[in-house]
Amino acid sequence: MSLFTPGPTPVPQNVRNAMSDETMHHRTPEFEAIFEKTRKHLFNLFNTDEVVMLSSSGTGAMESAVINLCHNTLLNVNSGKFGERFGKIAKAHGLGSVEIKNEWNTPVSVEAVVEAVKANSDIDAVAVQVSESAGGLRHPVEEIAKAVKEINPNIMIIADGITAVGVEKIDVTNIDCLIAGSQKALMLPPGLSILGLSNNAILKVGAGKGYYLNLASEIKSQRKNTTAYTAATTLIIGLLEVLETIERDGGVDKLYETTTLRAQAVKASLEAIGLHIYPNSPAKSMTTIDDENASEIRKLLKEDFDVNVAGGQDHLKGKIFRINQMGLIPTYEMAWVVNSVELTLAKLGRRAYDGTANRVFNEIFFKMER
Ligand SMILES: *Cc1c(COP(=O)(O)O)cnc(C)c1O
Repeated sequence: MSLFTPGPTPVPQNVRNAMSDETMHHRTPEFEAIFEKTRKHLFNLFNTDEVVMLSSSGTGAMESAVINLCHNTLLNVNSGKFGERFGKIAKAHGLGSVEIKNEWNTPVSVEAVVEAVKANSDIDAVAVQVSESAGGLRHPVEEIAKAVKEINPNIMIIADGITAVGVEKIDVTNIDCLIAGSQKALMLPPGLSILGLSNNAILKVGAGKGYYLNLASEIKSQRKNTTAYTAATTLIIGLLEVLETIERDGGVDKLYETTTLRAQAVKASLEAIGLHIYPNSPAKSMTTIDDENASEIRKLLKEDFDVNVAGGQDHLKGKIFRINQMGLIPTYEMAWVVNSVELTLAKLGRRAYDGTANRVFNEIFFKMER
């Protein structure tokens, strides 16, 4: 079965091999050397002043960012389940919470954020997804960050890049915290999250908040290539292998280029067979299609073509399907996916099969790649 869900994503064979050795003790020079190398690669990937790895799924890093960087009121952007989650975290910790809510296909506007920030001087942090995975949209995070900093440079910008770090270059000039998770663009099993932090964020963290998710204690330890608590050694060994593989394959810029091209080719090929792209500003991490036959299409893709794509959650259950584009994806697999979608439409009697999806995919991917 080909896993084409926008998280978890498939783990490459060489990465699985790297993680198959005996468990290493985390308080050893051997592991600290691996940790140090991994950190170096992460600095290159994040472009931030500091990076911190946590043994948690992505939500752990979101919670850590909120409690350490928001001390009064959080403004969260809710254009989907993950944006909504930031607000829930703030409330769970007794912080003030202001939310901007949109339909799941609609990115937030810079103006709406500016207005909300100007209207409430208690807001000391803004949390937003770079790529909101619920509907597969891209928020204008860099523009939002810039506009907010112009109003008040002390307001922390928390950017959830769980389906964006490793997908595209993110301008972190005005971002204080950029979050990634292992099981999305980083092609690892779930269980590791990473935060990239600005120097201003580190100042605001101060002595830190929380216990396990306290960023001050982690920054202190990780600068010495160790962790405050037991490190997720196996996942970090896997992460180093992923980051070295990306380097071997031409580096992060090449990865971003290929991902961009793949996103364009998939989008165009599915539009060419009459399908509709759901989000108004599609993210590069995934292609989201809204379709009355979404459930049947997913079922046929899985049963007849061995392709596993994701559906929708909450009010979009049965209404959309989402195809992953993150990571090092063999091109023949992606070509098979769009062809399978076309064959599925033929099975449903919607459209006679003529190979259009593959033709359009190939034209875009291979013509532009050379
Ligand atoms: C998957 C995801 C998360 C949450 O991750 P968990 O690893 O399930 O905790 C948060 N934000 C975005 C955008 C995601 O795609």
